[in-house]
Amino acid sequence: MPRVRHLLARVLGSYDPDSQSGDSCANQAKDDNMNQPLRTTPRVLIVGAGPTGLALAIELGHRSIPCLVIERNARVGHAPRAKTTNVRTREHLRRWGIADKLRQASPLGVDYPSNVLFVTRLAGHELARFENAMYCAPGKNPMYSEHAQWIPQYTVEEVLREHAASLPGVEIRFNCELLGFEQGDTVAARVKDLDGGGESVIVADFLVGADGARSAVRDAIGAKMEGSYGLSRNYNVVFRAPGLDKAHRHGPAIMYWQVNTDVPSLIGPMDTGDRWFFMPTAVSESVKFRAADAAPLIQRATGIDLPYEILSSDEWVASKLLANRYRQGRVFLAGDACHLHPPFGGYGMNMGIADGVDLGWKLAAVLQGWGGPRLLDSYEAERRPVHQFVMDEATANHSTLSNQLVQDGLEDDSAAGTQARAAIGARIMAAKLREFNTLGVVKGYRYVASPIIASEEGPEPEADFLNYLPSARPGSIAPHAWLHDGRSLYDTFGSGFTWLVTDGSEDAAAEQVQAAARACQLPLTVVRAPKGSVAALYGARHVLVRPDQHVAWRGDGLPADLVALLARVSGRSS
Ligand SMILES: Cc1cc2nc3c(=O)[nH]c(=O)nc-3n(C[C@H](O)[C@H](O)[C@H](O)COP(=O)(O)OP(=O)(O)OC[C@H]3O[C@@H](n4cnc5c(N)ncnc54)[C@H](O)[C@@H]3O)c2cc1C
Repeated sequence: MPRVRHLLARVLGSYDPDSQSGDSCANQAKDDNMNQPLRTTPRVLIVGAGPTGLALAIELGHRSIPCLVIERNARVGHAPRAKTTNVRTREHLRRWGIADKLRQASPLGVDYPSNVLFVTRLAGHELARFENAMYCAPGKNPMYSEHAQWIPQYTVEEVLREHAASLPGVEIRFNCELLGFEQGDTVAARVKDLDGGGESVIVADFLVGADGARSAVRDAIGAKMEGSYGLSRNYNVVFRAPGLDKAHRHGPAIMYWQVNTDVPSLIGPMDTGDRWFFMPTAVSESVKFRAADAAPLIQRATGIDLPYEILSSDEWVASKLLANRYRQGRVFLAGDACHLHPPFGGYGMNMGIADGVDLGWKLAAVLQGWGGPRLLDSYEAERRPVHQFVMDEATANHSTLSNQLVQDGLEDDSAAGTQARAAIGARIMAAKLREFNTLGVVKGYRYVASPIIASEEGPEPEADFLNYLPSARPGSIAPHAWLHDGRSLYDTFGSGFTWLVTDGSEDAAAEQVQAAARACQLPLTVVRAPKGSVAALYGARHVLVRPDQHVAWRGDGLPADLVALLARVSGRSS
């Protein structure tokens, strides 16, 4: 406790300023705060109740780890941003038992077709069409247990918030802002109640900055964003327009890319009824839109004369940035706090949720005592290459916007116009497939250079954005299969590690593994897959699957040193 008291003193500002280190971000508090009682004792303090922070809280909550999420806003879902909740995120929601809840929350209904159309303008000609973009169509696909959803981020956040808040041990505090922190044997954070409740100190074992693009936690640990800032300037306008869905002849779609010289832009429905988004892309530096300009701009872009009621208008800048490190001691970064890229392909929120998943089970393992220090080291080792890979995809998508597709004569009602539209349509189909059909990115990534994966020799299979080739090569997401009783194979996995006997045989090996796992308190469930295609899909009789459904090891018999394998996958090997 002396160390904690020392930290509290520093955080509350009574610490000798001469001995303060340069990274202190919390030295201005008033001395009278020293007398404030500690209101809570979470093991993990999460800064930010965006999708990343909420996903992390859910992973921790499912493992009974007390955690506190602080959020400076009064509620979740402040900005209308993401619309694509991809297949992999929905698989996590299924694991948490809330995939159906998200399905029911879908404002457009899950049967709404996830078509992406390229048009000259809503009132104009069609150029190209992608059907079932992002794999939103309901129904069973052997590759995944859950289809994607086109659903506003604010609705996703509300579903995550409600679930997180229902878990024992998870507390979410709104109107609460992080002011600073100090770390030693614990982390002591100074927070401010924006409802007028004053400042207090929260002590936790770990702090996670899920505090978005302008992360103060990132600054506080001295991490820097590296890459390219300002690839383009764009606007995101949300508006109401009764009758717009019927005022054009292209049929329902989730996005209409408008390729015209007036206002190259995207437009599409947000949720039920008549609420839409409008996104002029790559706007010149010299052009400034005021909210009052938005309605005439939409009219110009669409060619449709309707009363447009503007609900919000934000400027956003596309960048390609990665933090130079994700951790300092007991403090971690996750989500937009450590990676930012253009939203084309719909990856940002989904990657943040996957960060929360990866970090969540690892922090829980360490706090429960069965996880070792290398588990925490593996967070950045695993996630950074995935962020880099996805960031490159998103940046490639950003290089072909409506702005780059515009050409003279595209709207002409003439033979030359028809020819020009056919040519540009072919170009769109070739260039944009990579943005809307990306199962190879969404499920095909694997953790290659991880200290807690028993990697296999031989060259890694090449990444293909389009064709996801299920593989049980260690590091990969475990291949999915539907069982004959209607369940997903994933539904049979345990909440800790799963020892999957792929041919379902009753040999003694699994019992030996279970005994070894018990000896080191590693939570492990043995699953014997029903006979059938699972063995062929996994390419080995025995597979060790992690809590996040990534393969940690596979083999036909027991590993030569079972104890060493379990030490490795739980981060306890040196
Ligand atoms: C136009 C647009 C479209 C997009 N479309 C998609 C898409 O289709 N699919 C997709 O996956 N992604 C998309 N994204 C990206 C997605 O919106 C972000 O990646 C996602 O919001 C990141 O989540 P996060 O939780 O990491 O950060 P945020 O959502 O930014 O949440 C961080 C939270 O931390 C809080 N906070 C910050 N500082 C403090 C503090 N000091 N104390 C307390 N709280 C604090 C903030 O108030 C905020 O609520 C899009 C982005 C844009 C701009």
